Amino acid sequence: MMTRKLSDPDRDHIFGRGYADIIGQYDWDETVRMVEQATEADVDRVIRKARLNASPLTPEDFAVLISEAAAPRIDEMAALSRHFTAERFGKTISLYIPMYVGNACTNKCVYCGFNHDNPMERTVLSLEQVEEECRAIRRLAPFENLLIVAGEYPSLCGVDYLEKVLKVCRPYFHNLTIEVQPMRSADYERLTHAGLNGVVCFQETYHRESYGKYHPRGMKSFFDWRLNGFDRMGEAGVHKIGMGALLGLEDWRGDVVMLARHLRYLQKKYWKSRFSVNFPRMRPSESGFKPKSIISDRQLAQLTFAFRLFDHDADISYSTREPALLRDNMATLGVTSMSAGSRTEPGGYTHQAEELEQFEVCDSRTPAQVEQAIRRVGYQPVYKDWDAIFD
Ligand code: SF4
Repeated sequence: MMTRKLSDPDRDHIFGRGYADIIGQYDWDETVRMVEQATEADVDRVIRKARLNASPLTPEDFAVLISEAAAPRIDEMAALSRHFTAERFGKTISLYIPMYVGNACTNKCVYCGFNHDNPMERTVLSLEQVEEECRAIRRLAPFENLLIVAGEYPSLCGVDYLEKVLKVCRPYFHNLTIEVQPMRSADYERLTHAGLNGVVCFQETYHRESYGKYHPRGMKSFFDWRLNGFDRMGEAGVHKIGMGALLGLEDWRGDVVMLARHLRYLQKKYWKSRFSVNFPRMRPSESGFKPKSIISDRQLAQLTFAFRLFDHDADISYSTREPALLRDNMATLGVTSMSAGSRTEPGGYTHQAEELEQFEVCDSRTPAQVEQAIRRVGYQPVYKDWDAIFD
């Protein structure tokens, strides 16, 4: 097949400008090497710097903290992470719940059961069904933070549909976030007028070549469009921007250092927005896909502590994809928000149907049980931490 090479003005017109112009400064192999070659002396230096707290850690410092050389210092890192998190967020865990409104998708992500080639039944909730889901969630627990999730199918779940969905959900929840296909800046802005507070998007991997392999078709195959999506959110004045990589597609250490660099860039440029990060890990069993690297519980904990030392302000979120015991243990050590009671299929709260889920929920406790577990470790579960009046 012939592919047309885009000229620079064409590229700018289609993908816009943003971090895609910057990321080329960083070499992937050098980034991974930087983590692999960190020494005990480097770890000493960075932990001292973190403890002194006179200047923020750099992404290169963060690379040292996720290295194997830093693994024996995990307890010290945990204590510092706990301290900085409590200082900034108090002893609280903010609770949210996802609502899947559609599982139709035009993309072909090779690791996802919702991908376009899977001959499954597709659903996009009507506005009446969305409202039923809102009521069902409110019966479950007093959630105020709702994450609206849809597969990427712009003609069915585009900005017109999402605007209506937000308007339906608004009376039921104070804080609305979407996790859908990346959009134009003008579309994000339009949605903020319909009650949108936050947008979550996963770059999946920052390794450009692997990204192309894992996302062979659909709009998601355009690495630059997705990467610049975070700039478009910032330009549109989205209050909270959520980011992350799907750990396991590539060498996870390379991906999280790239993520740290991306976060610093966004913080400088879009200083009015707040940021959250999430570290979803791939598991070997998911849709038969075999991850390239597996991240253990201990490594995920080290990564979380390292990220908190790197950035005191970012919200760090753990979803129900993680096991209950790990979530309970991490509740006091750096994590600041968690989902609870999640169903990951459209209409799941109303019908409890056994349909294909986008990912396996590992912590299947009820919101009340998650709440109790958070209280047991001396923290306060928070359902509402945002009000429209702040807009
Ligand atoms: S990961 Fe998202 S974009 Fe990719 S196939 Fe699944 S639902 Fe679609």
